[in-house]
Parts: sequence; structure tokens; C-alpha cells
Amino acid sequence: MRYLSTRGDATPRQFCDILLEGLAPDGGLYLPERYPRIDAAELARLRAVHASEGYAALAFEILSLYIDDIPAADLKAICDKTYTAEVFGARAIVPLKPLGDGFYLESLSNGPTLAFKDMAMQLLGHLFEYELARRGQQLNILGATSGDTGSAAEYAMRGKQGIRVFMLSPHGRMSPFQQAQMFSLQDANIHNIAIEGVFDDCQDIVKAVSNDLEFKARHRIGTVNSINWARLLAQVVYYFAGYFQATRGDAEQVSFTVPSGNFGNVCAGHVARQMGLPIARLVVATNENDVLDEFFRTGVYRVRAAADTLETSSPSMDISKASNFERFIFDLLGRDGAATRELFGTQLASRGYFDLSGDARFAQAAGRFGFQSGRSTHADRLATIRDVHERHGVTIDTHTADGVKVAREHRGRVPMIVLETALPIKFAETITEALGHPPERPARFDGIEDLPKRVTVLSADVEQVKALIVRYGKN
Ligand SMILES: *Cc1c(COP(=O)(O)O)cnc(C)c1O
Repeated sequence: MRYLSTRGDATPRQFCDILLEGLAPDGGLYLPERYPRIDAAELARLRAVHASEGYAALAFEILSLYIDDIPAADLKAICDKTYTAEVFGARAIVPLKPLGDGFYLESLSNGPTLAFKDMAMQLLGHLFEYELARRGQQLNILGATSGDTGSAAEYAMRGKQGIRVFMLSPHGRMSPFQQAQMFSLQDANIHNIAIEGVFDDCQDIVKAVSNDLEFKARHRIGTVNSINWARLLAQVVYYFAGYFQATRGDAEQVSFTVPSGNFGNVCAGHVARQMGLPIARLVVATNENDVLDEFFRTGVYRVRAAADTLETSSPSMDISKASNFERFIFDLLGRDGAATRELFGTQLASRGYFDLSGDARFAQAAGRFGFQSGRSTHADRLATIRDVHERHGVTIDTHTADGVKVAREHRGRVPMIVLETALPIKFAETITEALGHPPERPARFDGIEDLPKRVTVLSADVEQVKALIVRYGKN
């Protein structure tokens, strides 16, 4: 399998060439040159593999369709050590919980940091370690986080050979639970840096360091952000696993509703559907930051300024633009790299929006590609958390609540699977607001706030961050 850029660069690249990279050199995102088609016989075979050998074996089958530059035995070993009951808390890895009336929750949040990002990040940790060892290289991962991504990255990379993580977060602004999750890690290769500023200051520092190309190359700076193709690919697997659990035969269809921010999670659903998984609809659920809902309703994609990005009670979906969206638009435009470049490289950059409402292909977003969307607010979130708790005895987190709210507005004739993207303990304040009591805390997190913390506080100064990387990084 070869990979190409959404902006037209078709230099042939294999999976491991793009594994450690971010954007393509032309500013686009990487996609496989085609989506391998799963026919009825192959789908039946995958169902049997999943039933008899489990999630890791299914992951190996799907990944093998896209990765031909890692020997099969090595890739199998990587999948087997990633998707274990010990790491993900259940033998099924992503069990379905019925919510009545054909609704299901797919549990993606039982990994080490209690959010779905572990599903991909844990695999990425093993893939990075493997590929760096093969090349004899080092990697210093630099990132900025306001919560979920940073902790998922740290738990995936802790103790890995050849890798160090430098994770910036806004000092004093994450929840006590999130701070404890990250800062209690004592691994020598994990460096928490609390910046005296807000999240945007952290992101600006990451950009400034990455734009210093000489420093970046000399100190082997890399990232683990959500545009990484390997992360997306790992997520394709749980759409298959959800489908197999909700259906008995391969003539049946399901729909998925996906709490969305950067469009990474639901883009994996799009890939699964393009491969031939019988998905009727992919419903994108947003919070008050409704860039994506606006597009699917109107055909206008309008990015927001930082000042217009609201702080909500589903904070991991508080985005101003959806960084993976370009992948879907590339497919919507019939994989026309020049047209995608015109929209994302020119129109968005110069005026902050593009408008496909008059383009016949926009109608295909719903028709040919199955996309629908909806939006949820703080009041919806509280009402949904309360309702699901009362009727089903299940406590859901705020992001998942956005998904359930929107899913209920899109109930069709086939089973509707809502992806559970985090556990409620991560957002205890809003759960308490909804239910009058805090959510249950998994036993392994008892007393986590009291553990010793490992963090360096720095002012919002690029040079100080660089100095820390020089001191603790390896090249
Ligand atoms: C990251 C995240 C999302 C959004 O996922 P995208 O892939 O960015 O669309 C939703 N919910 C939670 C809890 C998250 O951590």
C-alpha cells in the first residue's frame, strides 16, 4: 500500500515512511492511495476471526491491509501486546452495552487514561518503539495538551525505548484528576511542563519550536497529534468490532454516532464504510463548537477564531477547526488534490471559510457517504446524563452524552451504536451537577491526587522550553 497527500503530492511512500511524520511536505494529510474493499466472504471471515481469536487478531487483519513494510509476525506481536485485557480492562476490549430500543454504547474508554484516545495511542507507542529501534533513531515528542491527548500520549510512551515526551499544559488549568493522571508518572522519559499561561500559549510554543527547522531536525522533534494516519487506522478496527457485536449476519447494517472534535474518530468510521463495512449512517455529534454540524447542515465550512471557541463542559470537543476534516473533503471531491488544496490551502487560509453549498458533490456527503450531524448544549448534556442514569442505571460522560443526545434524533431502522469516548470520572464536576453526586471512580485511581507529582513550571517562553529539551532530550 502506498500513501499520498490530500493536496496532490503523490511521491510514493509506505506506511513506516509516514508513521513518524506529521503533515505531508505540501501541507496536506496522508491517505492510502485506495481503501481495500472487504467483500461478503472477507467480512464473514473477519467476523469469525474476531469471534474466535478476539480483538487483537482482528486488529492485525485490518492493519495488514494497510501496512506491508512490517513483517507479519512483528505486526502480529505488536497487536497482541497492545490490545490486552490487562491494559483495556476487558477481554472484549470494546464491549457493547445495550441502552434499549436498538441503541448501544461501545466502550472505548477502559484504557489507561479512561478516554478513547488510548485505543490508538497505545498502538502508536509500540509502533514507534519498533520503528525507531529498526532505524537506530531517537524521537523527542513535543506536544501541548489541555487534557486527554497529553495523558494518552504519556501513558502510551512511558518507558518506551528511544522515545522521550515533553508535554506542555497550562499551569493550574487542568482538572485535579487530569493533573494527577499526568504528573504522577515517575518514568524518566516523561517530562511534564506546566506553562504559566493558557492552552494557546502552549500550542504557540510547540509551533515556534517546530518551525525552527534546524532545531527540530537536530533534536529529533516529533509529534503524536490527531492527524497521524496510524492513529486513524487503529480506530478503524473498533468500527468492525462494534458492528460484529451488534449484528448476527453480514446482511445487517448499523449506524454510528460519534462525539466529534477534530474529526479523527468519525473519519475512521468513514474509512471503515469506504472499505465496505455495512454502515448505514455516520452521525457527527458536536457540542456548542459546531463547526462540523454547520458544514453538514449548510455546506459551509467556517473555522472559528480562538476567541470564538467556547469553553464547554465537553472540553475535548472544543475545537476551532477540525484538523482531520481535509481527509473527508478530499474523498468528497473525488480525491482531487488540486481542488482540496484550493479549499484548504487557499480559501481557508485567506478568508477563513469555504462554501460547497452550491456544489453537487455536497449532496453526496449525506447520500453517498452517509453523513448526518447534530449539536448538543450544556443543558442537553445534563438532561441526557440524568435520563440515561435514571432509565438504564449507566453513568455516561459529558462527551458521550452529546453523542447520545444527537443519536436519539437520528434513530433509524438499524441498530445505532454510540461511541463512548471517555469515562465520567474525568469530568466529575458536570456529572455532579447533573446527578447530584459524583461518578464512580475505578479502584485503580483511588487517591491519585495525593501521589507525588513530577512537573516543571516554566513561563511562556520558547527558549526555556528549548533549553529543557536540550538538557533531557537525546539525538
Ligand atoms: C478527543 C476526544 C473527542 C473528539 O474526538 P475527535 O477525534 O477529535 O473528533 C471526543 N471525546 C473525547 C472524550 C475526546 O478525548
